Amino acid sequence: MSIQLTGHILSQRELADHTYCLRVHAPELARVITPGQFFMIRPADGNDPLLGRPFAIYDVIRNDAGEPTAIEFVYHTIGKLTDLMSSWSGGEQVALWGPLGNGFPLPDCEHLLCVGGGIGYTPFPAVLREALGHAKFGSPVRGDGGSTIDRATFCYGARNAAQRADLEGLDQLSNLDIEIATDDGSQGHHGFVTDLVRELLRKTGSDRPDAVYCCGPEPMMRAVASLCAEHSVDCWLSLETPMACGFGACFSCVTKVKTDDGWDYRRTCVEGPIFKATDLDLESVDSRGTVSCSPA
Ligand SMILES: Cc1cc2nc3c(=O)[nH]c(=O)nc-3n(C[C@H](O)[C@H](O)[C@H](O)COP(=O)(O)OP(=O)(O)OC[C@H]3O[C@@H](n4cnc5c(N)ncnc54)[C@H](O)[C@@H]3O)c2cc1C
Repeated sequence: MSIQLTGHILSQRELADHTYCLRVHAPELARVITPGQFFMIRPADGNDPLLGRPFAIYDVIRNDAGEPTAIEFVYHTIGKLTDLMSSWSGGEQVALWGPLGNGFPLPDCEHLLCVGGGIGYTPFPAVLREALGHAKFGSPVRGDGGSTIDRATFCYGARNAAQRADLEGLDQLSNLDIEIATDDGSQGHHGFVTDLVRELLRKTGSDRPDAVYCCGPEPMMRAVASLCAEHSVDCWLSLETPMACGFGACFSCVTKVKTDDGWDYRRTCVEGPIFKATDLDLESVDSRGTVSCSPA
């Protein structure tokens, strides 16, 4: 069930160049969310911008008694709302609508690989903490609240070291390997994050991931989906399709899926944003996540 409410901004911190983490007091929402879901966010006052923008859940903050009290979002400043958001420092009010979308399934595998490209990394700290048994999400709590996998790898690609966000203690988790790639070689592997994925999928035994969750630029997701198909590994993609309403009314975020009869549209906001890669017609998705199609 989605709720619309006004949340109080508690704090904001910078994680990398043009990348910020916003903490919003919203206990009603914090207790029900699932990693991979998202919220529509807009300023509580005024009409500029008029429409909310979608942001994935980064983390849930708990009080000393372990009760969820706040939600964190990590965003990259790219336009009107995100520029405005970066000016907030605490005390402002923000309109939230959510949680929306399906979220990532609890992994049913031994070795989970999460692949984040650029700001697409934001859902994965929560996904990994939950899968490795370090955090619980949802009401009722998903799974039994314990570890659902034996090990995980997180491949994170950024343009350069300055744009690579601080992972805030994720590297301290046991059974998690983190591999970094930067386009300019300023940190980690010099090249695309997909190079790391290719190497991992070529491995054998428990070193080879047997499920992949991925979010990032469309060309990266297409490449990861293709590598997974080549190696017969299940792959889920989280689409970042621009959307206007977030609850399925406007159909501005449709993506093409394969069906028995050929293809059909699905709304990314309600039937996604997470889709099994083999269900998608990835060739029809352009670099902004928008489906290229002629009006019927
Ligand atoms: C499910 C989902 C989850 C998401 N999660 C996150 C997340 O966790 N973190 C995150 O940072 N982002 C996330 N996004 C993307 C995020 O929603 C967008 O970055 C956000 O909508 C940008 O809003 P804005 O008002 O700042 O930018 P806008 O002002 O709407 O601009 C968006 C883009 O359009 C371009 N643009 C704007 N106006 C024009 C114009 N007149 N001509 C040409 N180009 C123009 C801008 O340069 C920019 O590239 C997610 C998206 C989805 C669908």
